[in-house]
Order: sequence, then structure tokens, then C-alpha cells
Amino acid sequence: MTQKAYRVLLYYQYVTIDDPETFAAEHLAYCKNLGIKGRILVAHEGINGTVSGTVEQTEAYMEHVRSDERFKDMAFKIDEADKHAFKKMHVRPRPEIVNSSLNEHINPNRQTGRYLEPEEFRKALEDDDVVIIDARNDYEYDIGHFRNAIRPDIKTFRELPQWIKENLADQKDKKILTYCTGGIRCEKFTGFLIDEGFKDVNQLHGGIVTYGKDEKVQGELYDGKCFVFDERMSVPVNQKEDVVVGKCYHCGKAEDRYVNCANPECNRLYVCCEECEPKYRRSCSDDCRTHGRNRYVDPEEPQSQQVG
Ligand SMILES: [Zn+2]
Ligand SMILES: [Zn+2]
Repeated sequence: MTQKAYRVLLYYQYVTIDDPETFAAEHLAYCKNLGIKGRILVAHEGINGTVSGTVEQTEAYMEHVRSDERFKDMAFKIDEADKHAFKKMHVRPRPEIVNSSLNEHINPNRQTGRYLEPEEFRKALEDDDVVIIDARNDYEYDIGHFRNAIRPDIKTFRELPQWIKENLADQKDKKILTYCTGGIRCEKFTGFLIDEGFKDVNQLHGGIVTYGKDEKVQGELYDGKCFVFDERMSVPVNQKEDVVVGKCYHCGKAEDRYVNCANPECNRLYVCCEECEPKYRRSCSDDCRTHGRNRYVDPEEPQSQQVG
């Protein structure tokens, strides 16, 4: 097996950071100097990051992070990659490390659902009376999810608590399984479910990304791809079965390829197959297709007129 030259790291930790502003400024300087790229959020409640770099850079980065007593047990999820997954490096101080609408008193270090490791989660998926809740957004669900999982009809994580109150209030006695990309969203979400009176609340430890790499489960019972918030757009999960669950927005054929609409004023994320991309100039509507600033470039057409 040949190792790829780059890696993408995904990580988070709920731990008190006294001065997020100073921490963010210093951390940004360190990252820029090292040459990694990505997005890191820092708050009083902790840190949440995803970064890309060469194998050497990411090794140095992980060592640096763990050398801080607060982060000595940081769990990094590591993906191999051919290149950087980001264009820039941002480290931003924020009120929360995941933008939720949940009360400040929900602190995962005090209250959160039971952690299930991939093997336990895999077993629990087949329990008779289990309720599987996807804690991500609708567009993430649409290109891949656990089989039989409930799809909350939400565009952002902030809407999830309200959606649960309106739709799942009668499920409080059932066994609940929740999951998200890397596990961070479930930390507060399961704390919220416990507050709401759900009695048996469980979360997939390390999220879909960890589940897909686990040697025993190998992504079983996850259909489709896992949406990621970087230039890769999605990553594979199920190593045993390749099921495509998305559909091309234009022609309806099975597809899990996300693109951004080429109208810069729209930029909507939607599923589009390779054949339809040039046909529709990668646009989600007629208005976008004929928009004056449509930035689709047909690879078959000459790129620009050479003068002289
Ligand atoms: Zn199509
Ligand atoms: Zn559009």
C-alpha cells in the first residue's frame, strides 16, 4: 500500500479554554508558519478543527496540539489525500465550537448520551425497536446515511432541537441512536435529548468517519457517501457495499456528486451528474444558467480567445 502525500485531520474536544481570542491568534500564527490549511473554531468550551497538510506537517501538528496538557488525549481522525482540502487557514474565536441553538448549560462534560464504539453501534442498528436519528442537515443525509435513519428536515444544526420537539416527542421511551460526521454535533444534541426526557440516548463515538475506518465494521449498514465540509465534498464510508443514494437533480439518475451552482449569486449546493454538468452549465435553474456572471467553463470549449 502506498501512502498518499497529504492528510486531512478532523478533531474536536470540549475542554475549557480561558482566553479563546489569544489562543486563536497564537494558534493561527503557528498553523501558517507550519503551512497547513483549514478551519478551526475556538471557544471557552473547546476546540473544533479540520486541517490538511503533508504527512510531515500533520504529524508535527498533532504533536504540537498534544503537547498542550489540555489536549494531550486529543483524538484525531486521519484521512489520506492527494492534496490540500482547503485553500486558506482560519482560526476563529466563537461563542460555541458548533453553532447550536442549545442552552449554555448543555455541557457535554457534564451531560451527554452514552458513547457507543463502532461495533456496539453496528449491533444496536439492528435492534427491533431502535430510533436512529441523523443529527446532520438534510443535504448531508441526501448523499449518504445509516440505513433506516430518520432524516430531520433541517438546513442547519440550529434547527434540530425544534424539529425533534415537533416530530419525535412520542419516542421518548425508545432506544435512541444518534450520529453525525465526526461526533461533535451529537455531544450537545444527546445532552439536549436527555433534558427533553428521552430515556435511552446513545451516540456513535467518533462519528461516521471513525465508523468507516473501523476494521471490524468497515462501514456496514451505511449507504452512500459522507458529506464533508472541505473541497473533497464527500468521502467513502462503506467498504463492503457501494450503494449510491443521491439522485442527479437534472436527470434523476443515481449520483452522489455535489457541485455548487455556477451562478455566483446562488452558489447552491446540489447533486449533479457529470453528463448534466455541461448540459446545464452546472446551474440549478434556468435563471442561474443564463445569469450574466455564470462562471461555468466548459472543458470542451476553447477557454479564452488568445489575442495576437
Ligand atoms: Zn444528470
Ligand atoms: Zn443556482
